[in-house]
Amino acid sequence: MSYETHPDELEIPGEPSYRADQLRRWLYETPVLTPAQMTNLPASIRDHFGDSHWPFAVETELSADQGATRKWLFRAPDGASIEAVVMGYKKRTTICISSQAGCAMACTFCATGQFGFERHLTAGEIVAQVAYANASLRDSHMTIGRDHITSIVFMGMGEPLANYANVREAIRRMVEVMGLSPRHITVSTVGIVPAIYRLAEEPWPLNLAVSLHAADDETRSSIVPINKRYPIHALTEACAAFFEKTGRRVSIEWTLIAGTNDSMDQAQRLGAIALGMSAHVNVIPLNPTPLSSDRPPDADSVKRFKQAVARTGVPVTIRNTRGREIDAACGQLRSQASVPG
Ligand code: SAH
Repeated sequence: MSYETHPDELEIPGEPSYRADQLRRWLYETPVLTPAQMTNLPASIRDHFGDSHWPFAVETELSADQGATRKWLFRAPDGASIEAVVMGYKKRTTICISSQAGCAMACTFCATGQFGFERHLTAGEIVAQVAYANASLRDSHMTIGRDHITSIVFMGMGEPLANYANVREAIRRMVEVMGLSPRHITVSTVGIVPAIYRLAEEPWPLNLAVSLHAADDETRSSIVPINKRYPIHALTEACAAFFEKTGRRVSIEWTLIAGTNDSMDQAQRLGAIALGMSAHVNVIPLNPTPLSSDRPPDADSVKRFKQAVARTGVPVTIRNTRGREIDAACGQLRSQASVPG
C-alpha cells in the first residue's frame, strides 16, 4: 500500500476512497519523512506503516559542497543498494537517481560497472528516490537551490534503458502524479539502440543523454563493452532518429580519460558525430574510481580538448563535478561504503 502499489490502485481496506487520495498526496505530491507527519490520516492508518513508509531504509546521508549537495545510500529489504544525489543550483535543484542496483554494462572507468549487477529497481523504488528527496528538502533546505526537486537525471547507478518498463512507469508517475515537467527529465544511456527508438515513441518530451566516450569503435569497445553489440554507427543513427522524431536535442556525454580519449583526433571525430545528430557535448573529466588506474587529463588538456570540439561548431560544456569528496560524483556511486556485506 505504498510506492509498490500503482498510484491509481491505492486503496485502504475498510476506508472511504478519499483516504486513498489523501495517502496518494502524501506519497507523491507533498511527501513527508515519516508516517506520523501524514496529519490528516487517522492513527490507525498511519500505524499500518510502522515508523516508515519508504520502500528502503536510509543507511547513510552525506552532505558536501557547503550544503549544496546531498547524497543518500538507501538499502532495500533484500539488501540491494540504491543511491541518489541531490544538487542545488541557483534556479533549479536536480536529483541524480538510480535505475538499477549495480549495473551490468561493465564500463571500465565507472565504479558502478566495476562492482557488477545486483538487480533492477522497481518503478516504486525509482520514484521513491525523488519523493524522499522532496521530503528531505522540505524538512531541511539546502544552502542553494529550491525547496523541491525541479530536474531529474537518470545518471545514478544502473542503465535505465536496460530496465525499460520500470523506468517508463517511474517517469509516468513523475510526470502525471508528481507534476514534474518531462522537459526537465533526462534519461542517460550507454547506448541500448532498440530502446532509444522506443523512447522516441513515448508521449513525453524527455531529454536523452548518450554516453559516447570514444569516436571510433575500437576505442569505444575497449571501455564501453556494449559497443560490440551496438556500434557507433547504429547508435548515432538512433540518436539522429530520436532528434528527428521528438525535436529534442540529444546530449553526448564524454568522460575524458588521459591517454584514452583526449586526443585532438578524437575531439575532431566527436565534433563530426555531434554535428551529424545536432547534439551538444558535455565533457566530464574522469573521477577516479577504486578499481581502475585511469586518470583525468590535467586542466590544460581538458581545456584544449574542449576548444578543439568547439572549433568544429558543436556546443560543448565541461560539467562541474559535485560531491567528489563523498563519492557522489559521476561514476563514483557504489564505492566502498555501499559494497554489500
Ligand atoms: N548507464 C547510464 C547512466 C549512468 S552513468 C549511462 O551510461 O549513461 C552517468 C554518466 O556518468 C555517464 O555518462 C557515465 O559515462 C559517466 N561516468 C561514469 N563513470 C565516470 C567516472 N568515473 N568519471 C566521470 N564520469 C563518469
